[in-house]
Amino acid sequence: MASMQSFWPVSHRDDDFWVCMSCLTEVFYRKVPMPDCPSCHGVSTYEGFTLEAIRDWGTEELIAKAIAAEEEAAAIVQPAAEPAASVEAAD
Ligand SMILES: [Zn+2]
Repeated sequence: MASMQSFWPVSHRDDDFWVCMSCLTEVFYRKVPMPDCPSCHGVSTYEGFTLEAIRDWGTEELIAKAIAAEEEAAAIVQPAAEPAASVEAAD
């Protein structure tokens, strides 16, 4: 599997976790795979949810995937240089 999975970046209010409603085994954070779901190859099967909602009805595996996806995204977003505004309220 050398081919790279492509994604559409998606930001949708607070529903940042995109779950494939067809197979319910794929979840991505603020992006959806294109052109189709890597597991079931469903097209346009993704719906946005909050992590809270996924915790409510998702399997443990799906919840773990959602958390991992968010952590992965956070790691990517992290700027290489230290942000100047990282000093928190020093009063
Ligand atoms: Zn799927």
